[in-house]
Amino acid sequence: MSVTPHTDLGFDPEALRAKYRAERDRRIRPDGSAQYRGATGEFGYYDEDPYADTELTREPLDDRVEVAIVGGGFGGLLAAARLRQAGVQDIRVIEKGGDFGGTWYWNRYPGIHCDIESYVYMPLTDRVRSVGGGC
Ligand SMILES: Cc1cc2nc3c(=O)[nH]c(=O)nc-3n(C[C@H](O)[C@H](O)[C@H](O)COP(=O)(O)OP(=O)(O)OC[C@H]3O[C@@H](n4cnc5c(N)ncnc54)[C@H](O)[C@@H]3O)c2cc1C
Repeated sequence: MSVTPHTDLGFDPEALRAKYRAERDRRIRPDGSAQYRGATGEFGYYDEDPYADTELTREPLDDRVEVAIVGGGFGGLLAAARLRQAGVQDIRVIEKGGDFGGTWYWNRYPGIHCDIESYVYMPLTDRVRSVGGGC
C-alpha cells in the first residue's frame, strides 16, 4: 500500500503502522481458529439470540446487491455509512442477530454506559507489553 507522506502529524505513520503490525504478528498463533472453543454442546446457548422476541427466522432472500456486508456490528455499520457517503446505494448488511449493534447488541450491561472510542484502547498494547498483563 502506498502512503502519502505526512510531515505535520507529529508522528511517523509508517513507524506507527510497523509497530501495530508487530503487535499483530506477536498474537498470531499457529493453531489459528482451532484455538477457539465452538459455541456447541454445553456452550451452545452462546449462539442463541436471547433478545429476539421469538425464535428468529427470516425468509431467505435471493437477490443481487452491489455490496453485501456480513455483520451489522460497528464495523459493518461504519462500512455501510462510508459506502453511502461514497455514493454506493445498493448495500445489504447481513446480520444473524435480531437487530444491529454487534457486540453491543449481544452484550448488555443494564444501567451501565460506556463511550470509549476504540482508539483509546490502542496505547494499552504498550502497557500490556511493559507490565506483562491486561487491564
Ligand atoms: C464485552 C465487550 C466490551 C467492549 N467494550 C468496549 C468499549 O467500551 N468501547 C469500545 O470502543 N469497544 C468496546 N469493545 C470492543 C468493540 O465492541 C468491538 O471492537 C466492536 O464492536 C467490533 O465491531 P465489529 O463490527 O468488528 O464486530 P461485532 O460488533 O462483533 O459485530 C459483528 C456482527 O457480525 C455478526 N455476524 C457474525 N458472523 C455472521 C454471519 N456469518 N452472518 C451474519 N452475521 C454475522 C454478529 O452477530 C455481530 O452482530 C468491547 C467488546 C466486548 C466483547
